[in-house]
Amino acid sequence: MQLVSWQNWSGSVRCPNARSERPVDVPALAAIVAGHAGPGAVRALGSGHSFVPFWANGDTLLDLGGFVGLESVSGGVARLAAGTPLHAIGPLLAAEGWALANMGDIDRQTLAGAVATGTHGTGRDLGSLSSQVVAVELVDGSGGLRRLEQADEVAAARVAMGMLGVMTAIELAVVPSYGLHERNHLEGVEHCLEQLQARLGAHRHHEFWWVPRVDRCIAKTLDPIAVPAQPRLDEIPFGEAGERFGASWQIFPSTRDLKFNEMEYAVPMATALECFRAVRIRMLQDFPKLMWPVEFRVLAGDDGWLSPTVGGEVATVSIHQAADVDQRPLFDAIEPILRDHGGRPHWGKQHGLDGSTLAALYPKFEEFCGYRRQLDPDGRFLTPYLAERFA
Ligand SMILES: Cc1cc2nc3c(=O)[nH]c(=O)nc-3n(C[C@H](O)[C@H](O)[C@H](O)COP(=O)(O)OP(=O)(O)OC[C@H]3O[C@@H](n4cnc5c(N)ncnc54)[C@H](O)[C@@H]3O)c2cc1C
Repeated sequence: MQLVSWQNWSGSVRCPNARSERPVDVPALAAIVAGHAGPGAVRALGSGHSFVPFWANGDTLLDLGGFVGLESVSGGVARLAAGTPLHAIGPLLAAEGWALANMGDIDRQTLAGAVATGTHGTGRDLGSLSSQVVAVELVDGSGGLRRLEQADEVAAARVAMGMLGVMTAIELAVVPSYGLHERNHLEGVEHCLEQLQARLGAHRHHEFWWVPRVDRCIAKTLDPIAVPAQPRLDEIPFGEAGERFGASWQIFPSTRDLKFNEMEYAVPMATALECFRAVRIRMLQDFPKLMWPVEFRVLAGDDGWLSPTVGGEVATVSIHQAADVDQRPLFDAIEPILRDHGGRPHWGKQHGLDGSTLAALYPKFEEFCGYRRQLDPDGRFLTPYLAERFA
């Protein structure tokens, strides 16, 4: 055990007096959880790219840097150690002829951290990373090792924010290796919105960013190609037109150097365009100089009890603000619009909803809380932020 000062990627969560443990294997991890006598919770760390206080000062933070690597892949299912960073998974799977079906904007997260919050990319027929989970193994709140593989167990575990236990291995559905061709265009807002349905039908992936300050859109498409022998990988600078191509795991992620905080809601597709238009009107009126973009992505639904995408296709609308600027005026102004259009917040990003409001958004919320109590009866994984919402 070591005393550490820890903060998340954006600096919005700080734990100046945390204890850190780095278990080397599953028995060592199980012993730490079983022997945890508080105070504070015992909580896994991913790469700290979530924007909300999943961790609290005084907690025992578990560094899972010893749980990395591809354990096996065959028949379209890969078994990975839970702490494996996403950027390591592409090359590991590619060496065996496989790839993740989908990825988000960056690849700095760990697999367990990304799955725990429903991290996603785009694609009308493609779900989040959590939707690709086939089974998980975890150490529960009593220190027991469990394998969750039945349909209900997996549905509960798809998006669980670490409340069911510390995941040690995750099995994911994977697809044969493929390449991607990325093209970015700059265009007017109305043209971008008119093209949306056609582009969603014509491309494996399509998303757009709208930048309030210039009131213009950057539209991005990704199309499948054979993995090219000679990729063109130079990143397209944000806000510029361009193209590049390479293996899927090389093209999905971008670099995000500037620190920001983020709020994101998944809005049913039926109301998504109306929602985006309302957000745009409000931002042009009250935040017309904002350089940070609004990101609009479409993805498939899944059966996760706490998946923001449970129930069908959604569009996610993301609002960003610089990490050194108070984000609340912007987020407080936009959040009611996202809620009024039937949205559910991304679990790893900031929002202002309390437990009863969240419970009303998820038909299986109470079942999840019951299952959580079964796997962690003493609440060892509950930090105050989570206890307020899920105890
Ligand atoms: C620059 C940036 C870009 C982003 N892009 C996207 C995007 O494109 N799409 C998207 O959906 N989100 C995106 N996010 C959000 C991000 O993917 C999620 O917040 C994700 O959870 C972060 O993963 P992590 O490894 O950093 O996990 P952390 O933030 O460290 O942890 C997240 C949760 O997982 C738990 N956890 C970690 N490891 C385990 C384990 N082994 N067992 C059980 N629980 C565990 C933690 O305790 C915590 O509750 C982005 C965030 C940033 C900062």
